[in-house]
Amino acid sequence: MSEDHDLPVLVIGAGPIGLAAAAHLIERGIEPLVLEAGPSAATAVREWSHVRLFSPWAEVVDPAAEKLLAPTGWVRPDGAAYPTGGDWAEQYLQPLADVLGERARYDARVSGVARAGRDRIVDSGRDGQPFTVHVTTADGGEERISARAVIDASGTWSTPNPLGADGLPALGEHTHTARISYRVPDLTDPAVRARYAGRRTAVVGTGASAFTALAALADLAEQEPGTHAVWVLRRGIGSGTFGGGEADELPARGALGRRAKAAVDAGHATALTGFRTSAVERDGEQVELVAEDGRRSEPLDEVVVLTGLRPDLSFLSEIRLELDDRLQAPSALAPLIDPNRHSCGTVYPHGAGELSHPENDVYLVGMKSYGRAPTFLAMTGYEQVRSVAAALAGDHEAAARVELTLPETGVCGGAGLFDQPAAEQASAGGCCSTPTAPEVLSIGIGAPVQPSTGGC
Ligand SMILES: Cc1cc2nc3c(=O)[nH]c(=O)nc-3n(C[C@H](O)[C@H](O)[C@H](O)COP(=O)(O)OP(=O)(O)OC[C@H]3O[C@@H](n4cnc5c(N)ncnc54)[C@H](O)[C@@H]3O)c2cc1C
Repeated sequence: MSEDHDLPVLVIGAGPIGLAAAAHLIERGIEPLVLEAGPSAATAVREWSHVRLFSPWAEVVDPAAEKLLAPTGWVRPDGAAYPTGGDWAEQYLQPLADVLGERARYDARVSGVARAGRDRIVDSGRDGQPFTVHVTTADGGEERISARAVIDASGTWSTPNPLGADGLPALGEHTHTARISYRVPDLTDPAVRARYAGRRTAVVGTGASAFTALAALADLAEQEPGTHAVWVLRRGIGSGTFGGGEADELPARGALGRRAKAAVDAGHATALTGFRTSAVERDGEQVELVAEDGRRSEPLDEVVVLTGLRPDLSFLSEIRLELDDRLQAPSALAPLIDPNRHSCGTVYPHGAGELSHPENDVYLVGMKSYGRAPTFLAMTGYEQVRSVAAALAGDHEAAARVELTLPETGVCGGAGLFDQPAAEQASAGGCCSTPTAPEVLSIGIGAPVQPSTGGC
């Protein structure tokens, strides 16, 4: 670590996990400086303010943040109630940012991180050097800030996966932008509602966001005749397609899948399975999706792409990271969350050990730490930053301790064989049986929770 302890620990992003990181650092007597690209705290969360979380309040408030807020008279909302993204931002994240005061800066986008005076190649004296962080402000200004450590909690919200099934933009995706959206439509907004009412909309993807969009469009179809969804899946439909349902330890997440299934059963959504989109082409006033095998969708008015998110690693190019080559998550974390190996949601709590890199004192945390894996939960991130703050304070015993048990999705099935329904993949070895407890121990988690195969 840099010798200069007067320098702050720089936290990138004032989302739930970046703000929690600041709270844990303060609890440890370490000065944080949070830089947020957007104009306010929780900029990303505010962009999905209309979406209701599947986690209740009790699971989305960080314990150190709660302690920091307590002297202001802040009281956690009913722990059993489910906030929307807007509630989360207004009732918890904004008050937390207010407590941080000048320790958080807004309209400050991090555009580069390096060791002072050392590019990626130079070994000499590297660890003793502070970090240099390049910042671009909203008015176009540039700044350099020195830091003793860097915690990157910048999320993945601004870099959604494209429509193309191969991870590249589909041909025409950049041409037909007026008809393509990458967000769950906010149908409470009259302009957005008018865009989808009475229209045929493709919903591409199979995660919680796709389920939310299908359910919302089904509700709209009940009120606005002619509204219909075409649900585009790379896989077939199997017993695990709609999530864990009753077996999901987060009941609201399980319910999302059931609502999506109800949309299909009621005829408000038609599934287009085994469809790997390669192009989007104009058809009069509408567009059509074209699959790699030549199949075509029906003519569509709108396309909602909810195929997941990916990390932006561009501003970390001068830092020595060790990332998994599939997920772009820290290498030691990746086996725990890889949907090719097990996607039961049985993710083990982990901390500084799994999140460290060849570059000392740099940590990717929060949504970004999962790279392209889709199962991140806020409570996972809170545990990560508790451990990282302990490590930066030199409390290695606390950094290694595991203080969290995570819920299961009750869903099995890898991402690899996407022509097969998820249930078949489970029997092909992609299920909760991995990783086994010994495997977990081998990557250094002190007190692993027992993987349950209950929902599989
Ligand atoms: C629709 C939706 C619903 C979800 N529901 C749940 C749920 O019910 N339960 C649950 O546990 N989890 C849920 N999650 C997952 C996760 O908890 C949230 O995405 C959470 O917001 C992740 O927090 P984060 O701080 O890691 O990232 P973010 O919330 O994305 O925050 C990152 C911040 O960094 C800023 N930033 C980005 N780049 C830069 C840069 N270069 N410089 C400075 N700042 C930057 C962004 O503007 C943003 O404010 C949900 C996610 C989504 C998208």
